[in-house]
Amino acid sequence: MWIYRNTSLRNYNTLGLDYLTDYLVKIRTEKEAFEFFRKGNTWKKPVKIIGQGSNILFTEDYKGTILCIGLGGIRKEKVKGNEVIISAAAGVLWDKLVEWTVSRGLWGLENLSLIPGQTGAAAVQNIGAYGAEVKDSIIKIKTVSAIDGSIKYFDRDECRFGYRKSIFKTSEKGKYLVTRVYFRLSAEPVMRLEYGSLRNELKKGFKPDPSIVREAVIRIRRNKLPDHELIGNAGSFFKNPVLKSAEAAIIKKKFPDLPCYTEPTGDIKLAAAWLIEQTGWKGKRLGDAGVYDKQALVLVNHGNASGQQIFDLSEMIRKSVYEKFGIRLQREVEVVGLH
Ligand SMILES: Cc1cc2nc3c(=O)[nH]c(=O)nc-3n(C[C@H](O)[C@H](O)[C@H](O)COP(=O)(O)OP(=O)(O)OC[C@H]3O[C@@H](n4cnc5c(N)ncnc54)[C@H](O)[C@@H]3O)c2cc1C
Repeated sequence: MWIYRNTSLRNYNTLGLDYLTDYLVKIRTEKEAFEFFRKGNTWKKPVKIIGQGSNILFTEDYKGTILCIGLGGIRKEKVKGNEVIISAAAGVLWDKLVEWTVSRGLWGLENLSLIPGQTGAAAVQNIGAYGAEVKDSIIKIKTVSAIDGSIKYFDRDECRFGYRKSIFKTSEKGKYLVTRVYFRLSAEPVMRLEYGSLRNELKKGFKPDPSIVREAVIRIRRNKLPDHELIGNAGSFFKNPVLKSAEAAIIKKKFPDLPCYTEPTGDIKLAAAWLIEQTGWKGKRLGDAGVYDKQALVLVNHGNASGQQIFDLSEMIRKSVYEKFGIRLQREVEVVGLH
């Protein structure tokens, strides 16, 4: 276990915000996770678990303990016909895991290529992109209790996955550390190509190989999204609003160009990026806090923005969208600190 005092969080969040934390503890094994929580009273509270910090906005110095996950290792657990069960430790970088699976010809995670962050957080967040969500492949999750260090498994239904959420972000938030995630993948092609831009990117009659889908996803993403190594960002800052169809119809009548996507439940998902664009925020900046010029959903740190400035910008955008459309955007990024 590595313990640091009064250390910068700059390398622990993809917005590149340079706040301090009182303590930063890095664990590398399940035994260390167990020991960390068993000695619960030793650590300065509150304790916040983080992965790569790619979905977090710090707005001030952290007066507590940041727990970082360094658990590694990917395993093939079981093969039954075309079905392959694998597992990955929570600290494995998500995209390394996707690369590992597609290079073995396994289908299931390829649409989720190039999403930053760790595998444990991917499950906590139920990450999604290009018509896929990670919940579609997860079969169970291993955790360590933050109360007493005991081990508990959750099967997929118990995780209550939803749009960018699971119980680890809602009712059980902060109560469990995810240590390992189990996935069911397929050695036979199972393609999800409902997403128009992905279909267009793939050449007609392409060889059914998950690494070809992965490369197409990577090309699209590199064109559209900023690389957080070059320009600080946390991906989509806001969630796409989901409305009842009657509510969406009222707005559509006023704004006929409004893009609407019908969900399996019959509800209507709207594109938050389009709403923001219509309010004129795309590409704008206030000091070093800005809205990315190629994708209005992404807020960026042009250099020395503070977390508070990025938060304030997000509030202005929410206000503009509310005034124009009557829709309250919700942040996808988690704000940690006062604001
Ligand atoms: C350029 C860019 C593009 C992105 N694109 C997408 C995208 O297409 N789709 C998408 O869904 N997301 C996307 N994201 C958001 C982000 O990558 C995901 O939310 C990712 O899963 C966060 O992983 P992380 O390791 O950085 O977690 P963090 O941001 O560090 O943590 C996220 C949450 O999970 C909790 N947590 C982390 N690890 C654990 C654990 N082991 N046990 C329990 N709780 C834990 C934290 O407390 C926090 O609440 C993008 C981000 C960026 C910067």
